[in-house]
Amino acid sequence: MIDVTEALRLIAETAEPLPPRRVRLEAAVGQSLTAAVVADIDSPPWDRAMMDGFAVCSADFSAAACEPTESIELDVVADVAAGDATGLVVRPGCCARIMTGAPVPAGADAVVPIERAVAGTAAAHAGNRVRLQEPSFRAGQHIARQGDSFRAGQTVLAAGTRLAAPQIGLAAEAGGQHVEVLAPPRVAVITTGSELVSAAVTPAYGQTRNSNGPMLAAAVRQCGAEPILLGIAGDKPEPLRAAITQGLAADLLLLSGGVSAGDYDLVPGALAAAGVACVFHKVRLKPGKPIWFGVLQRSAAAPTLVFGLPGNPVSSLVCFELFVRPALAIVAGRPPAEGQRQTRSVRLVSPAKGNADRPVYHPCTLRATAKGLTAEPLPWGGSADLLGLSRASGLLVLPAGCGSLVAGTTVSALQLDSLADEAE
Ligand code: AMP
Ligand code: MG
Repeated sequence: MIDVTEALRLIAETAEPLPPRRVRLEAAVGQSLTAAVVADIDSPPWDRAMMDGFAVCSADFSAAACEPTESIELDVVADVAAGDATGLVVRPGCCARIMTGAPVPAGADAVVPIERAVAGTAAAHAGNRVRLQEPSFRAGQHIARQGDSFRAGQTVLAAGTRLAAPQIGLAAEAGGQHVEVLAPPRVAVITTGSELVSAAVTPAYGQTRNSNGPMLAAAVRQCGAEPILLGIAGDKPEPLRAAITQGLAADLLLLSGGVSAGDYDLVPGALAAAGVACVFHKVRLKPGKPIWFGVLQRSAAAPTLVFGLPGNPVSSLVCFELFVRPALAIVAGRPPAEGQRQTRSVRLVSPAKGNADRPVYHPCTLRATAKGLTAEPLPWGGSADLLGLSRASGLLVLPAGCGSLVAGTTVSALQLDSLADEAE
């Protein structure tokens, strides 16, 4: 059996960052580009009307026509709506009724807003005449010119850009249907156990609700990765084999249960049969000793890391916190330390008892006090007691062989949650 430090070293040695992935644009929000987005067209792709009104020739708006009291009358020769493609040419003395978002016809080089039409002619359309009064006319007004925003071939989003809603919109405008990103790792989760039923079911005699599936999926999500819940596999070779085959397509596969030494602990054998090489099985810690870790090498893709987590819910989560988190950080391209929970030096406010040959991770409440951080060990019923763990903001790390520790002793703790900020 290896200890926690050696297990972490083996995980760091085995895990490798995922290569960038091309994903559909809509699926890329929150992710960082690994390749720039280069526009395939000018934007706007043509001269675009930015107001509802009349597309006119500037030549008609001489200095005289721009006097506050002057107005000019033009023939309305066409109606151009957004989406219309017209070969029409607007000549001096004429104009086209135009809507916002429509292409400005050839010959016209400004838009006079509908509000500038003299009363009574505001509804002027093709075949009518319109009288316009535009004292502050300037050539080119209310038109977005082709390429004003960006040009074909221009980099609109540089590699490294994090994609939020505006960047997604811009990439779409530039023709980026798919983008290359450092996508979050995909983590398949299989819970094993013939006794397991979903939370929706009132367990019959002998049945146990599946807490680990939702819990591990939540933990995966908290790490910024994407959980894929593959449901419950009974302790039978065939359903287990089928679920494992499916799960091995992900970047990581987490299984819970079936890794101890019982007759129905089929997970290590099923993983070996699927070609997953064992890196370690069993680590000196409490709870969580039966943990299994291995790797499936794939020819055309990054290796799949596989964790067989113990079935007892607290053991499962403690192993996730200690071992899966740093693995996920590496796979996501971050330093493993970033994935680890912060280790704090804390003073016990009440006694705690260790184990003779394994370090114990004991749920506790961490508090920031005027005299530094304190930890209060919580009443805890062991590896199945999720209620006890749910009240904890940290895990005391009680070293192997430490015996009984009195109040006031300084020990390490892993911080799971924000600190309670109270006086002692
Ligand atoms: P195992 O590791 O399969 O031997 O399971 C150890 C204990 O954890 C047994 O009492 C199981 O019923 C329980 N257990 C296993 N998987 C789950 C799960 N997904 N949710 C809740 N308890 C579980
Ligand atoms: Mg089991």
